[in-house]
Amino acid sequence: MKAVVYHGPEDIRVEEVPKPTAEPGEMVIKVISASICGTDMRIYHGQHRMYPEGTRRIPGHEVVGTISELGADVQGYTIGQVVFVAPNMGCGHCDQCVKGNNNLCKNYDAIGVTIDGGFAEYLRVPENAIRQGNIIPISEDVDPAVAALLEPFACVLRGQNAVNILPGDVVLVIGAGPIGIMHVKLAKARGAGLVIVSEPLDFRANQAKNAGADVTINPIEQNLQSEIEQLTVGKGADVIITAAPVHSAQESALQLAAIGGRINFFGGLPKDRPTIQFDSNAVHYKELVITGTTACSTADCWQASRLVTQGVVDLSDLVSKRFTIDQALEAFEAAQNRESLKIVIEP
Ligand SMILES: [Zn+2]
Ligand SMILES: [Zn+2]
Repeated sequence: MKAVVYHGPEDIRVEEVPKPTAEPGEMVIKVISASICGTDMRIYHGQHRMYPEGTRRIPGHEVVGTISELGADVQGYTIGQVVFVAPNMGCGHCDQCVKGNNNLCKNYDAIGVTIDGGFAEYLRVPENAIRQGNIIPISEDVDPAVAALLEPFACVLRGQNAVNILPGDVVLVIGAGPIGIMHVKLAKARGAGLVIVSEPLDFRANQAKNAGADVTINPIEQNLQSEIEQLTVGKGADVIITAAPVHSAQESALQLAAIGGRINFFGGLPKDRPTIQFDSNAVHYKELVITGTTACSTADCWQASRLVTQGVVDLSDLVSKRFTIDQALEAFEAAQNRESLKIVIEP
């Protein structure tokens, strides 16, 4: 079969590799759609810790396909069924796994990260993933490219579950990349009263508007602090989500938050510069709640699938472009372009 194989930094190749088969307890998925994520771009540039030097692996962890082979002892699924594959697997029996946070398991595995992923014609799903409920059926009237976005959307959902957006809340989303756009859509669906987006790039700010943002602010040309004060009559934002890997975004969130505000540090910072100036008194005197979330659990993926398949949140306009597997290099190029939202490879 054809697959996109990582050989080293900026060196991915479309190659012929052996088609996987299903051992007992496993299944093989014929991939329909697999979207490119920021994580894949980090992998591509050789910056992912799970892809150390010498790694040869197929990336791709946002995957939808049809079940093409079922190993012995796998029950409850049918050949040809369309499914989304939640990528993260835990050991299944540690404290975090038992709580449902398999993304936080110390011995975690992830499709496309620690094992071969979905930028290929076929994907082998290990027994552990099937046992943990990672196979999520998708109804056939949902565009598979949109269903592939369940993974990043589940991460967004996890972030917002941590800050519990209430109807009427003022929500500030910092950054309007694909993740910021999903945050806008979800905050709206949760009943946020005012969704404000801070984004310096015009086309991205426009995308945020189209996604339902009530106000967009250019933090370079405008004073974010005074704009937020004006919009909230001096109160500040009830919820702030930083969806940009920018130090100043995290630092300013403490000032921009209302008393009792909740903050989610959604986007991580560069590995070699993870520290920020932290106004501890702002947290103390305003009783702020600061949360961090990373990736998504399988439970988050199931919740995300219900929101998307039942039309509560429409992600269809996030799919910017589709490429065949032979065009994978072009697809990675397109994913670098900040004007595109999500790029999908469709083998
Ligand atoms: Zn992802
Ligand atoms: Zn575990």
